[in-house]
Amino acid sequence: MTVRKPLIAGNWKMFGRRADLTQLTALAERTRDVAAGVDILICPPVTLLAEAAVLAGEGPVLLGAQDCAETPHDAAQTGEINAAMLADAGARYVIVGHSERRAGRGETDLQVRVKADAAAAAGLAPIVCVGESYDARLAGSAGQMVTRQLAGSLPHAAPIGLTVAYEPVWCVGTDKTPTPAEIEGMHALIGAALTARFGSAAARVRVLYGGSVNATNAGAIFATPGVDGALVGRASLNAADFAAIISAHPAAQALRSGN
Ligand code: PEP
Repeated sequence: MTVRKPLIAGNWKMFGRRADLTQLTALAERTRDVAAGVDILICPPVTLLAEAAVLAGEGPVLLGAQDCAETPHDAAQTGEINAAMLADAGARYVIVGHSERRAGRGETDLQVRVKADAAAAAGLAPIVCVGESYDARLAGSAGQMVTRQLAGSLPHAAPIGLTVAYEPVWCVGTDKTPTPAEIEGMHALIGAALTARFGSAAARVRVLYGGSVNATNAGAIFATPGVDGALVGRASLNAADFAAIISAHPAAQALRSGN
């Protein structure tokens, strides 16, 4: 069985000013001792990325972006930012297909795939978000919806660092979470779909859970089979809150206890 290094990622969404970068420095101080066991990622708004990268330096906190253009190269596209520009600014990862873009802005599976391919071409690790709506969950078709999203929005190959974030839409920003059994079931489905798609390369693809993760529920979520970490929204804005989530991971606890 392949052991994947967990990834705990924070999505700052459209929050944050330059003054908030003190949270990044504070997070680095709180997590330096566990970075060998857990990859720690912050995806700030793009306005903060380059300055964040200078502050983060070679420390424990990696940086990512929250979206990228579909076009992989420089182009006359006002307002767009391509993946190569994000890499140049210091990003190592980029979130694509977040539900706030799929549901909120009408982004399609095909657009998400094109962005994931563009990210990979620029050397960024795509974090492809999938997750069912509440209606689909009620109708018993959550698995079908996630399967369809995976089929349509995974990149063509499995680039280094490719990550899938399972984020049920009804849990993002709502303080609701599925039961551990529901999370386990969906992660098993995603794992099987990745194997069918990428063969043995699927073993290195991390599958995160996202949706109202906090310091109280993180331990149970991390203990759920098939969960390789978390994508965290609100609770990643504050260094103490996010560090408490990271501390709940068994890999962090093992390092701190010397095991
Ligand atoms: C997210 O933005 O991806 C997210 C999961 O948000 P929250 O943790 O606030 O639910």
